[in-house]
Amino acid sequence: MQKTSIQFVDLRRQYHNIQPEIDAAMLRAVGRGDFILGEDTREFEKEFAAFNHAPHCIGVGDGTDALHLALRALNIGLGDEVIVPTHTYIASVLAISNTGARPVLVDCDPDFYCIDVKAVERALTPRTKAIMPVHLYGHPADMDPLLQIAKDRQLAIVEDTAQGHGATYKGRLCGTIGDISGFSFYPGKNLGAYGDGGAIVTNRPELAERVSLLRNYGQKVKYVHTMKGYNSRLDTVQAAILRVKLRHLAQWNDQRRAAAARYAELLDGTKLGLPQVAPWANPVWHLYVVQTDRRADLQKALDAAGISHGIHYPIPVHLQEAYQDLGHKPGDFPVAEALAGRILSLPMFPEITVEESQRVAQACAGF
Ligand SMILES: *Cc1c(COP(=O)(O)O)cnc(C)c1O
Repeated sequence: MQKTSIQFVDLRRQYHNIQPEIDAAMLRAVGRGDFILGEDTREFEKEFAAFNHAPHCIGVGDGTDALHLALRALNIGLGDEVIVPTHTYIASVLAISNTGARPVLVDCDPDFYCIDVKAVERALTPRTKAIMPVHLYGHPADMDPLLQIAKDRQLAIVEDTAQGHGATYKGRLCGTIGDISGFSFYPGKNLGAYGDGGAIVTNRPELAERVSLLRNYGQKVKYVHTMKGYNSRLDTVQAAILRVKLRHLAQWNDQRRAAAARYAELLDGTKLGLPQVAPWANPVWHLYVVQTDRRADLQKALDAAGISHGIHYPIPVHLQEAYQDLGHKPGDFPVAEALAGRILSLPMFPEITVEESQRVAQACAGF
C-alpha cells in the first residue's frame, strides 16, 4: 500500500497549527481597512527590525524588489558592476541587471556553496560598486573578507538574505552585516507570507529613507515626488500574517536545525554528500541539499516512495538564456556547474516529523 506522500514544504500543516492567530490577524487588518501602508505594515517593519537587532526595516513588494531598491538606494545603475555568485536563484541577478548595472558573476566555494572570496578579488574592476553575497540555503556567506575588500575599495555590500532569516555569522545576524540587505517573504521561505512580500534591513538611515521613497512612487509627501520611484509596498494583510508568523520564527528555525541534525545522523554512512557547516556559521536550513553523482536514480527512488524533492538550482545563471549577453560559456564556473549536476534538495520544513525524516532517509539509503 502506498503510504501518504511527503511534501517538499508543507504550508497547510503550518497554517493548521496557527490558524486561530492567523485568522484573527487577517480579519483585524481587513476590518481596519488601511490596505496600503497600514498599521500592520508599520508594526511589522518595527518588529522585523527588532528581530534583526537593526534600526531600520522597510517593507516592499517582494524579495527581488528589496534587492533592486537596495541597489537603487545606493545609486547603482548603468555603467556600474556588481559582483554576485552564479550559483544562486536568478532573482539576485535580476535585481542587479534591472538597475542597468552589469552583474559580474563569480563561482562559489565547493564546501558551503556560497560566494568564492578569491574569485571576488579577481573580478574587481574600477567599475565595481558593490558585492552581493547570498546566504544560500540559509548558510551564511563568509562576510569578513568581503567587508575588508569593501572597506579597502569603498564598495557597498548588499546581502541577499532571502534564504537566511535568523542565520548568524560569527554571532552576527545575516542581513545586518553589510550596508543593506534584501529579505523575501515568498510563501516557502523561512518567514513566508501568503503571497509575495519582501523587506530591506539596514543600519544606515539614509538608505532606509531612500528605499521608503522609492517603494512609494518616490514621494514622501503625497503628490510631491522627489525621485523616480516604483510601486512596491509590503501589503498590509500580508504584514498582518507576517507579524503572527514572526513570533514563531525562532522556534521554527530551531525545528529546522533539529530536522537537519536528524538527516545528518540518519544519512551518515550513505554515499550521499551531506551539507557542511562552516566554523563561522549558525545556519537556518532553508534547504537541505545533498550531492550524488547518481541523481537520476535518487530521484526515482524518492518518487517511488512518494517523497517530493527539488533541485536548487539546475542551471547556473551564466548558462541561462536570459544572460547570454554576459558572454559566458560552459566551463567558466566549474564548481557551480558540477554542483548543478549533482545537487538534490530533500523535504525540509519546521513541521517535518521524525517518522517522515526516517522515511526520507530510508529511501535515500535504499537507492
Ligand atoms: C526567493 C529569493 C529571492 C527573491 O525573492 P522573491 O520574493 O521571490 O522576489 C532572491 N534571492 C534568493 C536567493 C531567493 O531565494
